[in-house]
Amino acid sequence: MTHPQVAAFSGDASTIRIVGHRGARGVLPENSIEGFEFVLSIGIDLIEFDVVLTKDEVPIITHNHRLHGCRVRGPDQRFLDGKEPKVASLRMEEIEQFDIGKLNGDTAYGQRFPYQIQMDGVRIPKLSDLFQLISQPKYQSVNLMLELKSDPDLVSDDAARERIVAVVIDLVRKAGLSTRTLLHSFDWGLLAKCKRQAPDIPISFLTRMKSNADEVGEDSSTLVTPDLDDTAGCIPDRVKEAGGSLWCPYYKDITNEDIARARDIGLCVAVWTVNEFDDIDAMIDLHVDAIVTDYPGKVQRRLSDRGYRWTG
Ligand code: MG
Repeated sequence: MTHPQVAAFSGDASTIRIVGHRGARGVLPENSIEGFEFVLSIGIDLIEFDVVLTKDEVPIITHNHRLHGCRVRGPDQRFLDGKEPKVASLRMEEIEQFDIGKLNGDTAYGQRFPYQIQMDGVRIPKLSDLFQLISQPKYQSVNLMLELKSDPDLVSDDAARERIVAVVIDLVRKAGLSTRTLLHSFDWGLLAKCKRQAPDIPISFLTRMKSNADEVGEDSSTLVTPDLDDTAGCIPDRVKEAGGSLWCPYYKDITNEDIARARDIGLCVAVWTVNEFDDIDAMIDLHVDAIVTDYPGKVQRRLSDRGYRWTG
């Protein structure tokens, strides 16, 4: 039987799904409740975001293991220039002091998102804040792509890795969201732990070929992803064998053959992170199941112009 959340990420002949990457990173502060609310307000019901644990084991929604200086300001309103604290070294009450409402335009990262709205008073959310948001009756059709980040300092600490998975799964269950959440990661070892601890919650495998790695260049989690360059063409099979329900390749890695194979073996394919109109069109031509994007409005526009739906 197909899991309901996997069905929610699956397209059909007239539907390609849109997944808001870190909310809508291109237009609103990434991984913020403000960004998630925006995505939901424009009729997107699939959200991707990243989870890291604080020192007191509170799962929070942020991308990096260190607070990213180009987008995090301290209580003095200054960007964390050169002194990025590790999330795992901070308690939740300390995390709450930071503001993620603005990007530093002097940095390369800030310059990547010139259209992002600049705000004050935006806090790093707890995972439970997002769960609370989507528990509202009007958001019952919302499904989550919950990315577990691997702490590079804990790669060989099996007990700590088990604990991270357990804490997150416990929160998903307590929120009653085990049928609306995918557990998603580059770290196939962490996904194996998810599968063992929660066989009922589907897992989603991120991949990126080394040959295209330089073009993304911001995700240290790929340290823990298997080397797939020798197995091109077989990746869907490897994902399936590992118990995956979704395969999430970098969009430049994917081919028609991959899509055909994924279809044959019943894998849902969600490509990331597709932001330019030409690339969006190419993914529509390939007829992927879902497009993960920083600009959900741009993908809506192309799908709409070409006669596709993204919900329903
Ligand atoms: Mg992510």
